[in-house]
Amino acid sequence: MVVSDDLISYIFKFYDSYLTENEFEAWEFLILKKKIKAHLFYNPNEEQRIRKKTDSMNKDSIKLLKDGEHQFYKDVIERILREKSEDVIINICPICGVLRRTPWTNQCRNGHKIDN
Ligand SMILES: [Zn+2]
Repeated sequence: MVVSDDLISYIFKFYDSYLTENEFEAWEFLILKKKIKAHLFYNPNEEQRIRKKTDSMNKDSIKLLKDGEHQFYKDVIERILREKSEDVIINICPICGVLRRTPWTNQCRNGHKIDN
């Protein structure tokens, strides 16, 4: 299964309640890392924050990240789609096949609008 950045944002935005505790903790860690990376200037306090977070994390959460960020997202999404397939709506535009922005909208990113 191809897991695009759009699908990652979509699942983690609308279906984050399906994350396990460990998955949630690993995800929080990735967000913290990204936030710190986005800062322009090097700040040793922030590196310390990352280290603190890593030290306090459950070992099972850390293990989820062992194959990298993308693999983590892929594994979580595949598990959610497998276990919650009846609850998760992957809202795809029937005209262009692009993932729509929310599970409930009838309009796609390319402007197609179709009532399902
Ligand atoms: Zn479309």
